[in-house]
Amino acid sequence: MKEDTPIIELKGVGEKTRQLFEKAGIKTVGDLLAHFPRDYEIYQEPVSVAEACPGQVCAIRVFITGILSQKKIRNLSILTVSAADQTGAIQLTFFNMPFMKKVLKPGSPYLLRGTVQTRGAAKAMEQPRLFSEEEYAKRSDKLLPVYSLTKGLTNQAVQKAVSKALSLYEFDEEYYPDYMLNAYELISRREAVSGIHFPVNWDMLRSARKRLVFDEFFAFLFFLRKNKEFLKELPNRHVMFETADTVRFLERVPFELTKAQKKVWREIREDLSGPFCMNRLIQGDVGSGKTILAVLALLMCAANGYQGALMAPTEVLAMQHYETIQEYIQRYEAAFRPVLLVGSMTVREKKAAYEKIASGEANLIIGTHALIQEKVIYSSLALVVTDEQHRFGVRHRERLAEKGKEPHILVMSATPIPRTLAIILYGDLNISVVDELPANRLPIKSCVVNTSYRPRAYAFIAKEVERGKQAYVICPMVEEGEGDSGDMENVVSYAEKLKAALPNSVQVACLHGKMRPSEKNRIMEEFAARNIDVLVSTTVIEVGINVPNATVMMVENSERFGLAQLHQLRGRVGRGDSQSYCIFISAKENKETMERLEILNKSNDGFFIASQDLKIRGPGDLFGIRQSGEFAFRAGDIYADASVLKQASEAVDELMNRDPSLSHAEHRALREQMSKDSVNGVDFRSI
Ligand code: ADP
Ligand code: MG
Repeated sequence: MKEDTPIIELKGVGEKTRQLFEKAGIKTVGDLLAHFPRDYEIYQEPVSVAEACPGQVCAIRVFITGILSQKKIRNLSILTVSAADQTGAIQLTFFNMPFMKKVLKPGSPYLLRGTVQTRGAAKAMEQPRLFSEEEYAKRSDKLLPVYSLTKGLTNQAVQKAVSKALSLYEFDEEYYPDYMLNAYELISRREAVSGIHFPVNWDMLRSARKRLVFDEFFAFLFFLRKNKEFLKELPNRHVMFETADTVRFLERVPFELTKAQKKVWREIREDLSGPFCMNRLIQGDVGSGKTILAVLALLMCAANGYQGALMAPTEVLAMQHYETIQEYIQRYEAAFRPVLLVGSMTVREKKAAYEKIASGEANLIIGTHALIQEKVIYSSLALVVTDEQHRFGVRHRERLAEKGKEPHILVMSATPIPRTLAIILYGDLNISVVDELPANRLPIKSCVVNTSYRPRAYAFIAKEVERGKQAYVICPMVEEGEGDSGDMENVVSYAEKLKAALPNSVQVACLHGKMRPSEKNRIMEEFAARNIDVLVSTTVIEVGINVPNATVMMVENSERFGLAQLHQLRGRVGRGDSQSYCIFISAKENKETMERLEILNKSNDGFFIASQDLKIRGPGDLFGIRQSGEFAFRAGDIYADASVLKQASEAVDELMNRDPSLSHAEHRALREQMSKDSVNGVDFRSI
C-alpha cells in the first residue's frame, strides 16, 4: 500500500465512509496518514464530584438521585437528572437521548465522562458519555487520538482506518543521511507516523512530532534555498525611473507617510531602478499602511510604461483593492488603467480582461491566482505584488517567466515574526519592515470575558449599530455538527441566535469558506456598503479586509485561536477615526487560557504578542493552536516549533556545504525524495 492508494482499498472502508472521508479532503492512504490528530484524550482515574473542576474533562462515579426535568424544545429533547457521590451533587443533561431516562436507574452507580460545567451554584455535565468499568479500564492511561471530523464521520471510524492503513503502508526507505539523524535526534518516519497517531506515551509523541515537523521544515527550506539560488543576481530587465506621478500622488493623499513608510518606499525605488531584479518582502503589523506602498510601486511601474499586477489570496480582498484603486484614480488622478481578474467572473468578462491585458490597454491587473493562469498573456509585465501571501514559490515564478521577462516581486505580509525566524522563513527575499503605525489611530479597547458576558456584548453591538457603526462576530466553525465541535460556536446557528437577540432593524449576515466566491464577494460588498450591520464570519475575514466603519470585533471561542491570529482579527477594526472595541469571548476559564488571552488585553503590538504567546506555550507545545494561515504547515508551527525550524535550517545549510548537488551516495535517497512533486503530501514549490 502506497501513498496514492485510494482509501476504499482499506478493509472496513465502504463506499459511504469513502464519501465522508472525501468530504474531509481525504482520498488516499497518504492523505489519511497525514491527517494528524488535532488533540489526544487521556482517560484518567475517575475523580470525586468535589474534585471535578469546572472547565475540565473528567470521569466520575455517581449514583442517580432523581429525574429533574424532561423537556422538548422544538426538535430538541432535553433530559436533566441529578446525581451524586459521597462528596457532592452534580446535574447531568442529555440532548436527544430520551431513552437515558430508562437506562439510568435511580440508586444505581454509573461511570460517566464529560466536561464539568457550572450551572448557577451547582456543578453540571452536558451529554456525558456512559462507560462500563471494563470499557473504561481499556482506555485508561493511553493517549487516544482526536481527529478533526466532518459531519457523519466518527472519531472511531478514523481511528480504525488509520490503524489499518498503518499496518499495510509501505514506507520509503530512510532518506536522511545518518549524520543528520544523529545530530538532530530524529526517529524514523515510520515510527513517527505511527507515533503521532497512536503514541504510547508523551515521550513518543514528542519524538514523533519532532520528526514530522522537521521533515516539513526541511523540505520547505530546501526549496527556499533552490529558489534563492535561482534568483541570485537576476538582472533588472525593467529598469524604472521615478516620475512626477508618485510625487504628485503623495502630495494629494490626505496624510503624510510615516517615517517607516518613507524608508521602505525609498528601498523599493532603489530596487526598481537598480541593477538587480527586486525580490522584496514588506513586513508590517496590521494597519501599518502597507497597501499604499504597493500602490506607489505599481504607480511607478505604470508611469514607466509597464504593467503591474496585484495579487491577493481571496477574491474579497482582490475586489477591495480594486475599489481602493478606483478611488485613487478618481480622487488623486492616479494614472492607472486597472482591470480585475478573479475566478468567479463570467467567461465573457474574463475574455474582455485578457484582451485588455494582452493589448497593454490595462496597466494594472488586480486579482487572485487567476492572474498567473496560462490564458493570461501580458504585454509588458514588470512588477508583481502579492498581498498577505508570504510565499511566491518557484512554480509561480516559472509561470511568470514564461509569460515574459522575469518581473520584480514585492510581497506584503502582516504575519508578525521575530527577526531571527523571518530571516529563515524568507531566506530568499530582502526584508523591509514597516515598524510604526500611523499617528492618528485611537488604540482599540479590548476585553477578555466569559460567555455570560454575551447579553451585554449584544446590547453594545446594537448600540454601535444604532450610531451607524458595524460589527464582526467570529466563530470557529461553519455549521453545526462539523467535527466533534461540541463546545465550538458555528457561524450558521450563531447568526440565527444573534438575529433573535438583536433588534429587528439590525441586519445580520453570514460569511464563511464554504460559500461560493461570488456569494462571498456579494456579502462583503454589502457589508462595505453598510447594507449589513453585523457580519457573522469564520476567519475568512482575517486577511486584509479594510472596512473602516466597523468598530466592534467580537470573537467567540477565542481560546481556540492562536494569539497572532486573534491579533489579525482585531486588526479588522480600529481602521478609521472612531473608537473601536474588541471583545474576546472565552468558553474556557482556566488559568492558562485566561493568562494567554490576557496578553491581547495588554498589548496591541503583533511582534510582542507573538513572542509572548511563544513564551507561555513554550516550544514544543504539542497541540499547536493553529496560527494564521500564512505559514500553513501540517504539523509544524513556526512559533512553537521555532527550535526545530532552526535545526532544519542548519541541516539544509550543512547539506549544501557538504554536497550542493546531492551527488554523494549517502544523499542519493534524499535527492530522490526532494525531486518528487510533493514531499510527504506537501507541495512547497507552489505555496
Ligand atoms: P495594512 O498594513 O494592514 O495592509 P492598510 O494599508 O490597509 O494596512 O492601511 C490601513 C489604513 O491606514 C488605510 O485606510 C490607509 O489609507 C491608512 N493609512 C496608510 N498610511 C497612513 C498614514 N501614513 N497616515 C494615516 N493613515 C494611513
Ligand atoms: Mg493589508
